Amino acid sequence: QLPQQDDTIHVFKSKLPDIPISNHVPLHTYCFERSLVEFPDRPCLIVGSTGKTYTFAETHLISSKIAAGLSTLGIKKGDVIMILLQNCAEFVFAFMGASIIGAVSTTANPFYTVPEIFKQFNASKSKLIITQSQYVDKLREPGGGQYPKLGQDFKVITIDDPPENCLDFSVISDANENEFPEVVIDAEDPVALPFSSGTTGLPKGVVLTHKSLITSVAQQVDGDNPNLYLTEEDVVLCVLPMFHIFSLNSVLLNSLRVGAAVLIMHKFEIGALLELIQRHRVSVAAVVPPLVLALAKNPMVDKFDLSSIRLVLSGAAPLGKELEEALRNRVPQAVLGQGYGMTEAGPVLSMCLGFAKQPFPTKSGSCGTVVRNAELKVVDPESGCSLGYNQPGEICIRGSQIMKGYLNDGEATANTIDEDGWLHTGDIGYVDDDDEIFIVDRVKEIIKFKGFQVPPAELEALLVGHPSIADAAVVPQKDEVAGEVPVAFVVRSTNGVELTEEAVKEFISKQVVFYKRLHKVYFVHAVPKSPSGKILRKDLRAKLATASPS
Ligand code: ATP
Ligand code: MG
Repeated sequence: QLPQQDDTIHVFKSKLPDIPISNHVPLHTYCFERSLVEFPDRPCLIVGSTGKTYTFAETHLISSKIAAGLSTLGIKKGDVIMILLQNCAEFVFAFMGASIIGAVSTTANPFYTVPEIFKQFNASKSKLIITQSQYVDKLREPGGGQYPKLGQDFKVITIDDPPENCLDFSVISDANENEFPEVVIDAEDPVALPFSSGTTGLPKGVVLTHKSLITSVAQQVDGDNPNLYLTEEDVVLCVLPMFHIFSLNSVLLNSLRVGAAVLIMHKFEIGALLELIQRHRVSVAAVVPPLVLALAKNPMVDKFDLSSIRLVLSGAAPLGKELEEALRNRVPQAVLGQGYGMTEAGPVLSMCLGFAKQPFPTKSGSCGTVVRNAELKVVDPESGCSLGYNQPGEICIRGSQIMKGYLNDGEATANTIDEDGWLHTGDIGYVDDDDEIFIVDRVKEIIKFKGFQVPPAELEALLVGHPSIADAAVVPQKDEVAGEVPVAFVVRSTNGVELTEEAVKEFISKQVVFYKRLHKVYFVHAVPKSPSGKILRKDLRAKLATASPS
């Protein structure tokens, strides 16, 4: 085949027209632009556990105090702070406060181990850590002198009672909001430094600029006909961790921009979640597939009033049709749909057009249509040729929202963003005749049976559709003849039916071509998942290497 010329590239665009995006201003200016003028006294943050509410004016004021407080502690433009917090209001104040002085937030999971935390801390050259007292032990001279020293090499601020050598959050939140240096922030300056989660490779720092995040938010919620129509009347559920970009961007930043209230839950617990949805009349829920699984299958759901929910946005991992249908039965009044994101892509690539102000009809199982002001193409992973409608290949995206690059890793950046500005996602998918995107699976996770491709996500969707299966994961097992064969880890549901391995295998083999059949089924109590809802396949592959996987 001849090399592709530029004009033969098939570019997919949104059905919505491009809009002007004010991505030349700093992120905090953009986020508070409307709310401070139009609804300063409406609720901005609602803390689920206490009911405490902060208005937009208060949220902005405290963020400005934090900006001043951080500068007093020596944080300057371009410096990195680490936010090591579960969801809380202080997370928001710290992130916005850092933005105001041109500093950068690197967000990390407080459940990380000591080496995980310090790897990110060192790679990002963080100057201080904002956390909770319960995590401070992990930051204190761990590992006999191989790590930086708390109090000496870096400062720690805790949002609750500070342990020895740590500072109280009031040190920064009580500062004089007028006393921070005027900084000139360029649109190309970094503001967030999330680390990719490392479910398929090693975690890497992803540099997101003011411009990239503003563009991503605008692509979702701005314009006369926003792709994701949110208003100041909405109460948006924030149970997904804000240290992950899905929640940070599509829940927090989107809500700030439109003036919606963010209901903050510091951790997921089904009873508390349902109670808070009912009490605060949550109208918009951002979820990930494991949460959909709980909402669709947990019997407690029937005891609560979920009628306030008008929109459910699922993202971060594949959501099968069967599960989506099961959720539809629980919230029949709501529009259900998916967004497709990737940290490096800023993160949103596509969004369900059923969420638009003037919605379009959409199909279940689709991840939405490419966002506006962006270009998407699908390429053959082997030849690199651009593909047309309905042909699966690697999804690539181009636009101002994508990352500037990986932190201090020119080689990895060049392997991901090509010379023409296309970001290669590593996801296999196709665009159908209605411009809806369907993700088949991730390139690295596709199982190769005698050269045939077996997408584990497809088999998992079928498995969780079985009434006696609560959850499932499919991974490759090495096989002398076929190279790899698909095997399943299955969690039985508690409906009393004793499910056997044979029954599971037969259930699948009736529905798929021969090479996608399951070769083994292991019954387990739970499927390991990342906080963003992805199956931790490397853990399962490691299990397979042991004598008794279940
Ligand atoms: P690492 O690259 O280190 O493994 P990660 O990819 O797990 O980290 P994220 O940026 O959160 O970290 O994940 C992005 C990936 O999530 C996408 O590339 C895609 O595979 C998957 N994903 C996101 N949204 C969807 C969706 N709606 N349907 C299917 N897959 C999705
Ligand atoms: Mg990734």
